[in-house]
Amino acid sequence: MTAHLVDGAALARRLRAGLAAQVRALQAAGMKPGLAVVLLGDDPASHVYVRHKIKACEETGVGSFLEKYEATLSERDLLARIEALNRDARAHGILVQLPLPKHIDARKIIQAISPQKDADGFHVANAGALMAGMEGFWPCTPHGCMKMLESIGYALPGKHAVVIGRSNIVGKPMAMLLLRQNATVTICHSGTRNLKALTREADVLVAAAGKARLVTGDMVKEGAVVLDVGMNRTEEGKLCGDVDFESVRPVAGYMTPVPGGVGPMTIAMLLANTLESARRAACA
Ligand code: NAD
Repeated sequence: MTAHLVDGAALARRLRAGLAAQVRALQAAGMKPGLAVVLLGDDPASHVYVRHKIKACEETGVGSFLEKYEATLSERDLLARIEALNRDARAHGILVQLPLPKHIDARKIIQAISPQKDADGFHVANAGALMAGMEGFWPCTPHGCMKMLESIGYALPGKHAVVIGRSNIVGKPMAMLLLRQNATVTICHSGTRNLKALTREADVLVAAAGKARLVTGDMVKEGAVVLDVGMNRTEEGKLCGDVDFESVRPVAGYMTPVPGGVGPMTIAMLLANTLESARRAACA
């Protein structure tokens, strides 16, 4: 078997074309959806991510407002900026690029963002809504993974999904989204014993540990769907996932490449959340 590749870049392009059409419809009705992006300091990776997000906004017709600050900005001043953006009618979504400098409590900042403008879906109100089976904004990366499963027509009910990673932004919401679709879900983490015995049981395996090539072919069940969320750098500076592509491809049924898999979907879902927020504001 050679796994089919799930082309996240192509799927994200299709989704964004659909979103661009929705933006035009909103504009015709007198509303321009907008995303505020707050960036502190000069971390090169954060600057690259923010550039990609702003470019995606421009290509989709979503307005973007980049607020750049020195890494020394105080927590109090950042909270004041968030408060101002919560009141700013042009900003339907607010995103604070993580990580934040050490003197700032990221949790406090995320909780200060209005849940209605929480484009990243990290606010505890949205996390709670996801857990409780209510409507809300879902974190973009796991939401993008669900869209990828949908794109291959994968039926989750009754399937065993194994998620490696339990972070608030990927692992936990991923598990909740899979559970909402009636999968039987196992969450693995750094304290899990015998990871391989669990991953070999997975019909769907989501790797979000941030460990280069953690998942090898012998850890994967024949025909499984393997979604690789990891974004790691090799010693040569090359981008690589949590999945060892070469050994997993002959075993899996479907898998996502890195780059060109989950990454572009994350940005597409960020735009989708911003647009949804704008639509809700228009109806309010
Ligand atoms: P994190 O460091 O917050 O969490 C990693 C999780 O993996 C932890 O829960 C930890 O317990 C678990 N873990 C670590 N080593 C493990 C091991 N050997 N076995 C089992 N579990 C293990 O990271 P995160 O923010 O959730 O991100 C995970 C990865 O996904 C990173 O590589 C990150 O860069 C990437 N990421 C990609 C996107 C994207 O758009 N593609 C978005 C967000 C994060």
